[in-house]
Amino acid sequence: MKKSIAYAAYEPNKPLGPFEFERREVGATDIQIDILYCGVCHSDIHQARNEWGNAKYPMVPGHEIVGRITHVGTGVKGFNVGDLAGVGCMVDSCGVCPDCQADLEQFCESTVFTYNSHDQHTGQNTYGGYSDHVVVDQRFVLHVSEKLELAAVAPLLCAGITTYSPLRHWKIKKGDRVGIVGLGGLGHMGVKLAHAMGAHVVLFTTSPDKSADAKRLGASEVVISKHADEMAKMAGSLDFILNTVAAPHDLDQFMALLKRDGTMCLVGVPDGPHPSPNIANLIFKRRQLAGSLIGGIKETQEMLDFCAEHNITSDIELIPVQKINEAYERMLKSDVKYRFVIDMQSLKR
Ligand code: NAP
Ligand code: ZN
Repeated sequence: MKKSIAYAAYEPNKPLGPFEFERREVGATDIQIDILYCGVCHSDIHQARNEWGNAKYPMVPGHEIVGRITHVGTGVKGFNVGDLAGVGCMVDSCGVCPDCQADLEQFCESTVFTYNSHDQHTGQNTYGGYSDHVVVDQRFVLHVSEKLELAAVAPLLCAGITTYSPLRHWKIKKGDRVGIVGLGGLGHMGVKLAHAMGAHVVLFTTSPDKSADAKRLGASEVVISKHADEMAKMAGSLDFILNTVAAPHDLDQFMALLKRDGTMCLVGVPDGPHPSPNIANLIFKRRQLAGSLIGGIKETQEMLDFCAEHNITSDIELIPVQKINEAYERMLKSDVKYRFVIDMQSLKR
């Protein structure tokens, strides 16, 4: 076992603080990564504060991990010491069920999430990326391009794949009219990726001050979702909507914007239910309301390669780990452009 230093949540209502624990030794198929940067996802807040009711403390959040490989097990293929590497939301799965066989490990009944999950190797909790290093089976390690700014790549490991996967699943192509709801960590990646796929992107925001940015990021149109007249003009005009909002809200106002046979895919996981949608909104235009969970490892690599090819990274604000509690408060006020990323060297201060 090897000592790791980290930041952890100890209780739902207390600030995160320093924490030490032990990681397992590098096994035959394991890779050890020195963590350089870790993105801060809204899921970290939901879980650190036990908003999903499944928190295990102490909890070391963080599932947008990038760093350099320091050790590889004897059975590791395709990764070498010194390579850049990434780890996202998952660190293990059964490998044999139909979901795993279909490269959709996120839907496996035995998926082990990067933190706040049960680690079969140690019998303890899994601990995430707000830490100095991580040991992960090679099946769940991603190759990261040397070409892109590394700190800005970290958010691709969750925000990137969570928006890329539904855009691909619903076959977004050149000319499709795609709505993105919410311009936060996920939303701003959704705008960039849908734009890169050739879509006409309409961004829906509750924050009027984000309008100019949304256009810079790739939106062709921006709608302030609180303004009924602007919403009415969009009625029946969109092929697909990706809804990234992290709080319960009225879904009907967005369902009404879909064309016949259009789909709205939810990726936000609020702490409570949305008001019930009006079923007539679905029936009369054969519209669909759907959901999506991150993406499989194969598709995550495809997304990272797509981003390297198209020069896409996240817009980030780099913080030392000591500012994490302030960062959480600012995210709750939608005050981040557009992802906090922790510089993990700050742990050693
Ligand atoms: P974030 O950076 O905080 O962004 C959320 C955005 O939602 C905000 O920037 C804001 O955008 C909008 N918003 C917030 N509160 C709102 C409200 N009351 N009404 C309307 N809009 C509101 O969060 P994130 O990291 O992108 O995560 C978003 C959600 O996705 C979270 O619930 C997270 O847990 C979930 N998530 C799901 C998956 C998955 O696999 N399905 C993966 C990762 C994260 P505007 O200021 O533009 O309105
Ligand atoms: Zn996440």
